[in-house]
Amino acid sequence: AKKQGRNLVKPFVPAMQEELAKRIRVEADLRAAIKNAEIVPYYQPLVDLKTKEIIGFEALARWKTASGEFIPPNEFIPVAEEAGLIVDLTDQLLRRACGDALSWPNHLVLSFNLSPIQLSDRLLGLRILRILGDVGLPAHRIELEVTESAIIQDAVTARIVLDDLVNAGVRIALDDFGTGYSSLSQLSNYRFDKIKIDRSFVASFETNDKQDKVIKAIIALGAGLGVTITAEGIEEESQLQRLQDLGCDIGQGYLLGRPAPAESLAADQIGTRIA
Ligand code: C2E
Ligand code: CA
Ligand code: CA
Ligand code: CA
Repeated sequence: AKKQGRNLVKPFVPAMQEELAKRIRVEADLRAAIKNAEIVPYYQPLVDLKTKEIIGFEALARWKTASGEFIPPNEFIPVAEEAGLIVDLTDQLLRRACGDALSWPNHLVLSFNLSPIQLSDRLLGLRILRILGDVGLPAHRIELEVTESAIIQDAVTARIVLDDLVNAGVRIALDDFGTGYSSLSQLSNYRFDKIKIDRSFVASFETNDKQDKVIKAIIALGAGLGVTITAEGIEEESQLQRLQDLGCDIGQGYLLGRPAPAESLAADQIGTRIA
């Protein structure tokens, strides 16, 4: 039986070896990047769709390598998670983002993404509150974006973490809404302050009448639950118009503003309206 089992194992082909070597390289580079603070938050505006005013910014991690190349978060966040580097990376990014937010007008909110695996760390809430305290950013100025899968993975711990944060005045947003598999049960299990409708809905709703109805229903659901609704990925004027007509509260997307480094958030952009 042993022999048979051996035969089932795929040979360690050069392609796999290459893949593994690449992974090890990326991991080492990532470790160095964190050490040298080369991964920084960019900020994308969150816009009140009724007044067109910027109400805050979502921090989006960007890794600028020594060669000037940008590595997107979808490529390094999973590596950071697997390599056990996500705690250090998050602490560093959060500290930096909170520091940046301190220089914004007081009414602007900082929205910050958490990795799903982090919600199964019961000390996460306390660590975040400690960073807020160290930096001096009031808890009500930060909003944490979590996904449904994060809560489903370890519901008991996730609740402890979220309770710690909510009790301190931090707001919680349910990110990528509609892409998970248990959206509605999560909504009744926990009180979120905000629901972010996933970009995939916004991208297709004009050409797909059913998608339009889904968005409409999510907005109605938000109104019923007293939860603010944000639509992500707004790229076109027609999408913006339709979302405004449907009464969507907040919008985000390239049309309203691309993610930009802290230095280029012009003073005149903060606190003014989108044209
Ligand atoms: P997300 O939280 O859903 O963030 C929204 C993504 O959509 C961002 O991609 C943003 O740049 C992009 N986006 C915004 N507006 C538009 C638009 O109009 N059209 C299109 N096509 N895309 C738009 P990004 O920055 O590449 O981030 C990807 C994902 O990486 C994020 O998805 C989030 O899940 C994760 N991420 C980013 N920063 C962090 C972080 O600091 N910590 C953790 N744990 N995850 C992060
Ligand atoms: Ca997000
Ligand atoms: Ca999202
Ligand atoms: Ca996402």
